[in-house]
Amino acid sequence: MSSTVQIAGIEVSTEHFINGKRVASERKFTSISPIDGSKLAEISAGGKVETDAAVAAARNAFPAWAALGPEGRLPILKRFSKNILDNVEKLAAVETADNGSILAGNIMGGMPRAAHNIQFFAESAMKLNVQEIDSPTVNNFVRHDPAGVAALISPWNGPFMLTTWKVGPALAAGNTVVVKPPEWAPLSCSLMADLAQEAGIPAGVFNVVQGIGEEAGAALVSNDDLDRISFTGSTDTARIIGKAAAETLTPTSMELGGKSPFLVFEDADLDKAAQTLAMQYMNAGQVCLAGTRILVAESIADELQNKMKTAVSKLTIGDPREKTTRLGPLITQAHFDRVKGFVDRAIADGAQIVWGGKSAERGGLYFEPTLLSGVDPEWEISQKEVFGPVLTWQTFATEEEALKLANNTRYGLAAMLFTQSQERVARLERTLVAGTLWVNCFFVRELAAPFGGCKQSGIGREGGMWSFDFFCDVKNIAIAKGSLSGDE
Ligand code: NAD
Repeated sequence: MSSTVQIAGIEVSTEHFINGKRVASERKFTSISPIDGSKLAEISAGGKVETDAAVAAARNAFPAWAALGPEGRLPILKRFSKNILDNVEKLAAVETADNGSILAGNIMGGMPRAAHNIQFFAESAMKLNVQEIDSPTVNNFVRHDPAGVAALISPWNGPFMLTTWKVGPALAAGNTVVVKPPEWAPLSCSLMADLAQEAGIPAGVFNVVQGIGEEAGAALVSNDDLDRISFTGSTDTARIIGKAAAETLTPTSMELGGKSPFLVFEDADLDKAAQTLAMQYMNAGQVCLAGTRILVAESIADELQNKMKTAVSKLTIGDPREKTTRLGPLITQAHFDRVKGFVDRAIADGAQIVWGGKSAERGGLYFEPTLLSGVDPEWEISQKEVFGPVLTWQTFATEEEALKLANNTRYGLAAMLFTQSQERVARLERTLVAGTLWVNCFFVRELAAPFGGCKQSGIGREGGMWSFDFFCDVKNIAIAKGSLSGDE
């Protein structure tokens, strides 16, 4: 009998899921809810023993899963997707308790999206047709074969959805997987294992090893029997994983941090820009894609800031389970102190607080939406990812200056551009360094489109065929013309 806890009335296993079975470790780590600091669970803390067992199980299960082909896997993965959809409210409640994200957002957005991820990639894999390339003496046939065993590591700010973004294409392509959930929000991925099993995903195809990043994560990425490592998390952790992957020459995909610019030109729809600027505080700013560096044309700066202030004043801070709440807590005390440290140092450097800058009145891990002006583009606050509700405000006189400021970080995840000029978009779409450029919009993601970061925001692209390119071995079969019976 697996050890379980009740989270918001939902039973969640606190153990690993290896080879179709719940497995406990003697060592445990504690999951604490950022909503009120209450203890949620003592969870098995895996290490080398558990990750080795999970990778071995995945290796054993691989041939049969791969042999099913996309059409054999499709009905199983569709059931998996449906199971997620049927349990949206439960999954959302567990995720909110675990990471403090807004419950309504998880119900309306994150969890249905997770189900869609699984279904979308299962159906897309059916279109992984053999491509033919003719040449004078041979016929070339290009296949996408599953790579083998994939390690999938995700962060705490959206663990369930972000994990399905990897699980979907990995399984659909015929790989088997070992998931390492984030230790600050490990519970929703435990439920994912139950839903996968109920869908009929065979033992060993989908495994979960819980644990601390430096222990379970490090042991997993050092395993020399992995074929792929797909990681979403911080740039600093990516460097450590990259070194481990270099030892075994395991291909990695990295979705990392950001310090994205949000540019507003004098010809923009300022009401829309202001509403979208307020959205940058979403999930208490714990969003990799957030446009944290606001860059505004001098001539409209005051007007835009007033409109943004009105929009931000409507963001109710509070318990993320309440319908009216727009801003929940930061994830841990250590992270809260880190965010506050950035703000305090920026003020010491000479930044001015336009609004916020301190703990919210309700205390705990809640921080006010903050806007800092008078910042230098080279200061820490302009260069490093805060991952909290903290934005900076800078003005520019010319498009050239705006572009220079926008590209002036080591990150390149996203850029937001608000303008009504097609000519401006045509110029800046070529010169802004970002994996995603949103023009007069934000956070609109098409699954078939590529997603990823430039510079230190990532390596590789996920989404649509880009995901399959990563999770597959692309093989060219060159057959001498006329050499096979029945061949012309
Ligand atoms: P993190 O790097 O601390 O942890 C991410 C995951 O890596 C966790 O599961 C953790 O347990 C694991 N990990 C930690 N050390 C490890 C090691 N040595 N070996 C293997 N695994 C290890 O990041 P976080 O604090 O959980 O998440 C926040 C970061 O994630 C931010 O930088 C954010 O921008 C980024 N992020 C990026 C995207 C994207 O799509 N680009 C999406 C969400 C979050």
